[in-house]
Amino acid sequence: MDTILVVNAGSSSVKFQVFGAETGHLTRLVKGEIDGIGTRPGMHAESPDGTRLIDETFEPAQVADVPAALEKSAGWLRELHGFEPIAVGHRVVHGGPKYGLPVLISETVLADLERLVPLAPLHQPNNLAPVRAFMSRSPGLPQIACFDTAFHRAHGALADHYAIPEHFYAEGVRRYGFHGLSYEFIASRLLDVAPEIAAGRVIAAHLGSGASMCALLAGRSVESTMGFSALDGLPMGTRPGQIDPGVLLYLLEQKKMPPRQLQDFLYGECGLKGLSGISNDVRDLEASTDSRAQFALGYFAYRAGLEAGALAAALGGLDAFVFTAGIGENSALVRAKIVEKLGWLGAVLDPRANAAGEQSIAARDSPIGLYVIPTDEELMIARHSLALLMAGQW
Ligand code: ADP
Repeated sequence: MDTILVVNAGSSSVKFQVFGAETGHLTRLVKGEIDGIGTRPGMHAESPDGTRLIDETFEPAQVADVPAALEKSAGWLRELHGFEPIAVGHRVVHGGPKYGLPVLISETVLADLERLVPLAPLHQPNNLAPVRAFMSRSPGLPQIACFDTAFHRAHGALADHYAIPEHFYAEGVRRYGFHGLSYEFIASRLLDVAPEIAAGRVIAAHLGSGASMCALLAGRSVESTMGFSALDGLPMGTRPGQIDPGVLLYLLEQKKMPPRQLQDFLYGECGLKGLSGISNDVRDLEASTDSRAQFALGYFAYRAGLEAGALAAALGGLDAFVFTAGIGENSALVRAKIVEKLGWLGAVLDPRANAAGEQSIAARDSPIGLYVIPTDEELMIARHSLALLMAGQW
């Protein structure tokens, strides 16, 4: 069977999915991950019905880096399931100013993407490591890069700029926005879920360990809460979201925090974790009776409400709000708190539908649609990969 492998590589884990691609139709076959790379490596995978296919741990030296993790997972897929992909689709965080669409990766494209490492130093190198690994192992295998920034590339100039001298914009200091594959998927699902709303003004909220919101006008992104990096906008599990740059100057100058430590602080010590002092995980905060946990959840919803106001202004009003990703799909409490903040726009929650996690959670008389739509970034990557293959662009 023709299969497409989708790879999402981070610093300590490689997530992979295999899709059957018979007659242009995609079917998910395997979903897996190698985590704990270099420390406590483990490979876990399941079939779409939830059947566990493997749960195996390795010595750190056996899976010391991302290429080794790929070798392990590709070997397992080959030997046990006979999967030899016809293409590999990669999640790549940054496409820079140039890449507004998924692209077949050549040496030239890869060199372009490697030049973007300074724009996403934590993520881009990990995303590109598997590309290099496949290039040397299977040189003829088509590889496709799908970018988190691409869906936002059509933003107007006002949304794309910071108020700093223009030469910085020219060299790439722009408001890129992220989670684009997720928003693109949501926009496509809305066409089925609520076609009349898909043509209108929608805010989609991707609330996971990273969190952002996107303003969609007729299915196209016109504004995002994230900008140059994945730090801006909403508070997240361990990132602060919007923060006065004066605070950063204070940390650098007065507290003598080295830049590298500041980076680790901003990505790892702030957000829900920093505020609560308890956990970055909403499940832990919901279960806690500590007032700091409740404060952190209240803060998250408050900031989401403020940012929704800004996005509604960008859209000139609001027809619907969509929740997605780990928190958005699972936390009825956080959804309820955020919808409360949308009350001034007219949003009214149906508490029963919300508690049940139904697709539509708006009260019957709510003029604003409220939806819970599970995201599927991997399927989006598989779709793009298949589309490029079918267009014969390799
Ligand atoms: P990522 O893919 O960015 O790691 P996810 O979209 O999987 O993130 O979201 C992870 C977060 O979702 C967790 O940190 C947790 O806060 C939240 N989450 C997951 N399941 C639940 C749940 N049942 N109830 C509340 N929050 C949840």
